[in-house]
Amino acid sequence: MAERFLQGVGVSPGVVVGPVAVMAGEVPEPSPGPPAAGAGAAEAEAEAEARAAAAALEAVASDLEAAGLAVGGEVREVLEAQAMMARDPGLAGSVERLVGQGRSAARAVWEAFGTYREALAGAGEYMAARVADLDDLRDRAVARLSGLPAPGVPDPGHPFVLAAEDLAPADTAALDRRKVLAFVTEQGGPTSHTAILARALGVPAVVGCGGAAGLADGVTVIVDGTSGVVRVAPAAAEVAEAERRAGARRAARSAPSGPGATADGHRIDLLANVGGPRDVPAALAAGAEGVGLFRTEFLFLDRADPPAPDEQQSAYAEVFEAFPGGKVVVRTLDAGADKPLAFLNLRDEPNPALGQRGLRALRRAPEVLAAQLEAVGRAAAASRASVWVMAPMVASAAEAAWFREQARRQPVDRVGVMIEIPAAALSAGAVLAEADFASIGTNDLAQYTFAADREVSALAPFQDPWQPVLLELVARVGEAGRAAGKPVGVCGEAAGDPLLALVLVGLGVTSLSMGPAALADVRLLLARHTLAECRTLAERVLAAPDPETARTSVRSLANGLDDLGL
Ligand code: PEP
Ligand code: MG
Repeated sequence: MAERFLQGVGVSPGVVVGPVAVMAGEVPEPSPGPPAAGAGAAEAEAEAEARAAAAALEAVASDLEAAGLAVGGEVREVLEAQAMMARDPGLAGSVERLVGQGRSAARAVWEAFGTYREALAGAGEYMAARVADLDDLRDRAVARLSGLPAPGVPDPGHPFVLAAEDLAPADTAALDRRKVLAFVTEQGGPTSHTAILARALGVPAVVGCGGAAGLADGVTVIVDGTSGVVRVAPAAAEVAEAERRAGARRAARSAPSGPGATADGHRIDLLANVGGPRDVPAALAAGAEGVGLFRTEFLFLDRADPPAPDEQQSAYAEVFEAFPGGKVVVRTLDAGADKPLAFLNLRDEPNPALGQRGLRALRRAPEVLAAQLEAVGRAAAASRASVWVMAPMVASAAEAAWFREQARRQPVDRVGVMIEIPAAALSAGAVLAEADFASIGTNDLAQYTFAADREVSALAPFQDPWQPVLLELVARVGEAGRAAGKPVGVCGEAAGDPLLALVLVGLGVTSLSMGPAALADVRLLLARHTLAECRTLAERVLAAPDPETARTSVRSLANGLDDLGL
């Protein structure tokens, strides 16, 4: 066979060798003709078709929910949002109307999604980005109605490298992690669903890889999730070398390791981001020293009213109990923009990301915040964890002071703020005078620094946390923390990039909180660098003209990337 390399973008590290399994093909468009009905039975037939369509949509929604429940965390949120789309009353209405006009159930579903799709595609970039999710829903429902195999992950019965045009959230959620060795997709970028989910699952991934979907089923490939190279049909010597590298990475990652620290013993707390009790086992298995970001939205989503105090208390207690003697940082409800809540957010704001979200929404509904803080306080009083609370989307010292006043009424150890708005970063000294600690949310901080919606895929390069300007803001907060003698953490995506983690430490950050799958790499790389080296890397990055230069220069200076496969 001819030498073949495919080149994509490595978005989740690791090297694997394995046989390819290609994702099932497209679901064909159902014929526009009417259902095979007996004359005179049109009405009864239409009713039966309508029932079948409704049942298929409901089955798709519950499958997605079940897949989400099985996986938890971010995956669950994504799938529940998708299930909600399948249950949209407007969609059901269109299907019923089309069936009434004589379409088959499958055809009506196809056409109804088509109308919905056009409306979304024309409703701005944020909604347009949901089109792929819609197509996935449509194909699942139509496959069900047409008696075809559901589109999705193949099951060849042995471990495999999944190759696909693109992966929908539902596909990645349904993956059996013991069987899937890596992802290779034609579409997608570093902030795509595929990339985020692959990192959350700890599976190597290459996206934006031309030729991925055309790979032959069963062909052996070497996937390098760092360099983005996919070697097709490698020679025995290449396989041996890849296996040596994979083995070195496994050995390095499984070696016993102490708590997070630089090579010269400067302690850095390495913590996990969790979205609820379901995420705790993975955090513990990865050796998280505590929780640096407990996203509490999971309790509130898809509800007409806030959850009862007792329900909140027991969910918080479950997480606290897992970290006796460790720290758990609870973020109070961050509703709005990408996480809207019916009972809290305004519906008619033209720019929800710039609207009454986060702490601003809680200030409009202080009873919701008070009830949450009380539930946290009660759970904290009964636990051995050190419970810290922080407010999302704080813009000023005055807001920090207001939040502290509310939270101080509860028996929590520290009260802090998230720094996600440039104004808060620029006034970090004043903000920290009103808070016990700060935690930098680089996802939103990037969004607001570059005025680039984090949900808009066309603006994804602005979400790159290697932007020197963004890191200048981090440096400012680190400096303010040092001056005030108060901890400054990072809990956005940036903290889980092992090379960037070194830079963040060099900028004065004292804790890093990330998806559990990233903890081992961050811990190992940190232990290979002194604080002075981290500071040198940070200086390089701040002096770099752009993120690519910053990344390349840190990569060329960092120690011991090879056996980690980074
Ligand atoms: C952030 O904005 O970086 C952050 C950690 O919060 P979230 O992603 O939940 O908005
Ligand atoms: Mg945020």
